[in-house]
Amino acid sequence: MADILIYDTTLRDGSQTEGVSFSVKDKIKITDKLDSLGIHYVEAGWPGSNPKDQEFFRIMQERRLKRSVLVAFGSTRRAHQKPTEDRNLKALVSAKTAVITIFGKSWDLHVSDVLKTTLDENLKMIFESVAFLKKKGREVFYDAEHFFDAYKRNPAYTLKTVEAAAEAQADYIVLCDTNGGSLTEEIRTIVRDVKAKLSVPLGIHTHNDLDLAVANSLAAVEAGCTQVQGTLNGLGERCGNADLCTLIGILSAKRQHKTIPGDRLKHLTEASYYLSEISNVKLPDNHPFVGHSAFAHKGGVHIDAVLKNSLAYEHIEPSLIGNHRRFLTSELAGKMPIVLKAQEMNLKLDKKSPQTEKLLKALQAKEHEGYQFEAADASFELFMKRELKKYKPFFQLEGFKVTTEKRHDGRMFAEASIRLTIHGREEFSAADGNGPVDALDRALRKALTQFYPRLKEMHLSDYKVRVLDTKSGTAAKVRVLIESQDNTDSWTTVGVHENIIEASYEALVDSIEYKLLKDKK
Ligand SMILES: [Zn+2]
Repeated sequence: MADILIYDTTLRDGSQTEGVSFSVKDKIKITDKLDSLGIHYVEAGWPGSNPKDQEFFRIMQERRLKRSVLVAFGSTRRAHQKPTEDRNLKALVSAKTAVITIFGKSWDLHVSDVLKTTLDENLKMIFESVAFLKKKGREVFYDAEHFFDAYKRNPAYTLKTVEAAAEAQADYIVLCDTNGGSLTEEIRTIVRDVKAKLSVPLGIHTHNDLDLAVANSLAAVEAGCTQVQGTLNGLGERCGNADLCTLIGILSAKRQHKTIPGDRLKHLTEASYYLSEISNVKLPDNHPFVGHSAFAHKGGVHIDAVLKNSLAYEHIEPSLIGNHRRFLTSELAGKMPIVLKAQEMNLKLDKKSPQTEKLLKALQAKEHEGYQFEAADASFELFMKRELKKYKPFFQLEGFKVTTEKRHDGRMFAEASIRLTIHGREEFSAADGNGPVDALDRALRKALTQFYPRLKEMHLSDYKVRVLDTKSGTAAKVRVLIESQDNTDSWTTVGVHENIIEASYEALVDSIEYKLLKDKK
């Protein structure tokens, strides 16, 4: 089986998802995650189109990735302009990535009606842009936009566009189903056709408007494509791009293609959840391979069979891609994560002990209230310790007050005051901040730092809020996730309440207690 290069465009095409916006910091974090997963190419943005992406590429010039190659994305030159004078091409070069991907027009309708230029000029634009970037010593991938729609209507001209890119020494030609409307049979036939006529390696870029993006990518691989483009969790405009989590799962575990390194495959599920948290787009529980329910068994007969031999009702061993088996209605329901976490914490817990049973009940009650510990490891550890009475709090809250004020000139002020008991002594402190949660965090730390000076090492690195579904007409609850880090580590905590300040306070306290606990070890 051929090696398949995985090309991720979560940060570029994926950022077009409705409701998703990545900050520069988010982009760096996601790049690191994709790098640790061993994704071959990370297309991270369009330096010619916005200052945020320019800033990102500037920062990335000083950072080194372990496994992935960073890619800058842009378009062919404008009509009737020299490549050397084209602002977009120049921005691509100054992003200083080893690989540059540019897209160009395959479809005559787009050339005449959108670009409003001639078919010949379009061919020149493709040839000259690729040649210009090759001359700058870069590896160049050419994305043939709307390739399949174009080929169905005017195969002769469409072929000329990719031949122009090939002649200019493009390293890869990527055939795009930009509108996502092609059927699998069409993709297979057209890729085969093109493969017979071009010697440049081919890639595939599909969209999911027919729920066929993964199937279409697989058909393209069968027909000879050796690069697959997509996004984690299938993020993307409209119905999304081809989902790399599913594609990597199938190509690696089912088809025995070499994709990401074998030892990284077990981090696929974790990467998928990580992206879900950062993008604030919930991963559907029934998502293939990586979803929470992908290996969850409920039917009694199924559970019984899986316990005897997991192959009975599972298409692969879930740990292969870092997911795990769950039993929903059996004796063993949900106990495995508890037992595994206990092992990590050097606590001995037996699956069958009454203590485990009690923990499970408490965990289920928490989950019912809206807590989710999959993404909040630190809170999960604290929860276990509190339940098992292996935990003594570092301080006690006597009370806090938070105020925000808006003045007539539009300026905002936030202030918090807090009273704590620490080692039997009552401490009072007050602080202001950029918003109520920041003020509360500062006041809390001000009181604590004199007793626990190492709290100075930590800071909040991320803060996310999600409104939970309202049930039975009560006020909506919010779930706050706080990510904190110090110089060695990062950890996530969770809080849930109808009041966003209380939910934030809960997550803040967990974050601080976790740090103190960690340092004590
Ligand atoms: Zn696309």
